[in-house]
Amino acid sequence: SKITIAIDGFSSTGKSTVAKQLAKYLGYVYVDTGAMYRAVSFYAMENGLISGEDFNIEALIYQLPKIEISFKFNKSEGFAEVYLNGINIEKRIRTLEVSGFVSKVAAISEVRQKLVEQQQEMGKNGGVVMDGRDIGTVVFPKADLKIFMTASAETRAKRRYDELINRGDQVKYVDVLKNVQERDYLDSNREDSPLVKAEDAIEINNSNMTLDEQFDKVLNLAKI
Ligand code: C5P
Repeated sequence: SKITIAIDGFSSTGKSTVAKQLAKYLGYVYVDTGAMYRAVSFYAMENGLISGEDFNIEALIYQLPKIEISFKFNKSEGFAEVYLNGINIEKRIRTLEVSGFVSKVAAISEVRQKLVEQQQEMGKNGGVVMDGRDIGTVVFPKADLKIFMTASAETRAKRRYDELINRGDQVKYVDVLKNVQERDYLDSNREDSPLVKAEDAIEINNSNMTLDEQFDKVLNLAKI
């Protein structure tokens, strides 16, 4: 029968890479919950609610009912892309600018409540691989398999930096490293659903693992 797999961990630990692979292999649905927090941040940016140090939290909370997030499978990419009010924003939410705001947006309880509800609905029938920060602790505390991914901050920043450069973004390594560390800090120290390893999660440090090794390990865990 189809199980529920939760993959949590710090920023840029390669959660989505392994989650996508696993979902494809098992014929499961993959849900990128980070994309949902990024979509809300993108909405806030587009509507002038957040810029620089200014963040109109009340306005964002008020406008939450107007934010509709959905996923649509892209055959050529092999995974579901995220849409905000019917518009594909998959590429636009991966910028360092969005990354700079997203942990502040994700700290708002009203935002979390809305997105967690939607995530629980999406995964209610099992057969899902969901990645994020609070999947094994809050969204699916009874998930059949919980994985907690870690890697050194430098390894993670280097991976994210390569990703951004590859897509043509002009970024500096130091800024990417700073963002990764800042998000780790904010995500771990917020009041609502802080990033923490679930007691029954299996920790995988992939600093020195190839993608194949990582996939084998997770697949073996999923088969038990
Ligand atoms: O996974 P990704 O790096 O795209 O997530 C972006 C941000 O969204 C995280 O740094 C975190 O602030 C927030 N997030 C969260 N809970 C989740 C997924 C993401 O708070 N389940």
